[in-house]
Amino acid sequence: MTTCNNFINNAIVAPVDGQYCEVTSPMTNEVIGKCAVSSAADVNTAVDCATAAFPSWSSLTMKARAAIMLKFHALVKRDTQKLAELIVLENGKNMVEAVADVAKGNETVEYACSLPQVAQGKNLTVSRGIDCRDTRRPLGVVASIVPFNFPFMVPMWTSPIALVLGNCVIVKPSEKVPLTMNAVCSLVVEAGFPPGVFQFVHGTADCCNAIIESPKIEAVSFVGSSPIAKIVADKCRGLNKRVVALGGAKNHLVALSDAEKEGTIRDVVASFAGASGQRCMAASVLLVVGENDQYDLISEVVEKAKGLVLGTAAGELGPVIDARSKDKILGYIKDSEKSGAEILLDGRNPSSVPTASGNWLSPTIILHKNKTDKALHEEIFGPVLSIYKVKTWNEAIAIENGNAFGNAACIYTSKGGSADWFTSRFRAGMLGVNVGIPVPREPFAFGGLYGTLSKYGDGDITSEGAIEFFTTRIKITTRWPAPTAEEVGAEVGVGGDANDAANFNGKM
Ligand code: NAD
Repeated sequence: MTTCNNFINNAIVAPVDGQYCEVTSPMTNEVIGKCAVSSAADVNTAVDCATAAFPSWSSLTMKARAAIMLKFHALVKRDTQKLAELIVLENGKNMVEAVADVAKGNETVEYACSLPQVAQGKNLTVSRGIDCRDTRRPLGVVASIVPFNFPFMVPMWTSPIALVLGNCVIVKPSEKVPLTMNAVCSLVVEAGFPPGVFQFVHGTADCCNAIIESPKIEAVSFVGSSPIAKIVADKCRGLNKRVVALGGAKNHLVALSDAEKEGTIRDVVASFAGASGQRCMAASVLLVVGENDQYDLISEVVEKAKGLVLGTAAGELGPVIDARSKDKILGYIKDSEKSGAEILLDGRNPSSVPTASGNWLSPTIILHKNKTDKALHEEIFGPVLSIYKVKTWNEAIAIENGNAFGNAACIYTSKGGSADWFTSRFRAGMLGVNVGIPVPREPFAFGGLYGTLSKYGDGDITSEGAIEFFTTRIKITTRWPAPTAEEVGAEVGVGGDANDAANFNGKM
């Protein structure tokens, strides 16, 4: 049993109210730990420590902050196995996926280490004798509220970039998976982050509200479900606080009849069933365009998915996070069945489960007949693929464009022109061509399309968008009086002094 207390000022601190919630393993539903349920008092203590740490942290050079981040990167790499084991335990994903969770998170850490090379300002002579430059100022204390599905990677999307840019960061891990970040506390100390710079406060909605409402927290980044993303974004906007809030997803894959066989089948299955469908980049809807006389994509996908085994070893399907989530997934399958959909692969009652009491579900594939089925439109977040057959490209685009989310979309085809037609029409922030999980890795920014249920607020969560989000550009316009002839010791004219050794006058 692990107790996850808050990590404030480089020390482990119990919540003042002494409140905890249970952490359960998705594999057994047994209690494996308890997680602090922090109140505004805990949040305020962390904020005060961060505020006290900010002047000296922000006055270090960016290189000095990056040097600490580089040490942190090495420590994460050293402890990858240990962190991955905690991810398997509390999240349920398989060991290979858990190691990838850590490695992907550490890629953003790596990107943050390169910020001294990429985050400088601009400098231009804007008028004769007048120079303008801009300099990036950190915001101060910023916070990050994160979901359960990537216990390490998502907290690392924002924190390393914000930190190297000079901010002090408070992370609120998901109360469903607090163990991983709890293990990161000691790495923060070992890497040499000064007290108050990088802190973790655990809790639920009240803790998040205290973060949002704290007048000393300058910006909030959020990743989670769409309804909560909207609540967070609206509250922050009401307080004139900078916010980027990524929400849920309903990613569409479109397969044309010329799609390459092996890669398409492999990708579709890996995308919808990998991590038990609990990835915001998971394929959720497969639109099959026309008939394929070379092979039957749908039956091949079903055959491939049938071969998936439940468990937490490489290639196996872990349980979904909790019983509530499992019930929600089952509800969507039942509703589809009622509306006349054909269940091509039924994962509701797996024939063999690794543990009797876990939240296990085998892959399910639904062939919809009715375009209005809820499963085709709402986020299910489980190992379920909805298939719908269409006759034309325009029909496929109309369905994809008509969905309320805008996270990712992908086209499978062997023709470049067809791919371009779709990528210029998809309504989503991250597009794939023959790539089922089109995650843009650094230096490209991650994030869905603003104006959809997948994204609220400003900027992006990683890369250049995060640099912009976590800094304010201050513009400095400078004019120095021209030196006098007496100071220079010669006549000064336009183009400089021909005898001036420090001004080559164009002659090298
Ligand atoms: P969630 O929205 O339930 O919780 C996310 C975080 O919000 C948690 O830390 C939780 O404690 C906090 N929270 C809960 N109630 C709150 C409230 N009223 N106000 C403020 N904060 C509150 O999400 P989840 O179930 O942990 O994660 C799964 C969801 O996250 C899915 O919808 C998935 O698509 C989404 N997700 C999106 C992305 C993306 O990049 N768009 C990435 C990962 C996950």
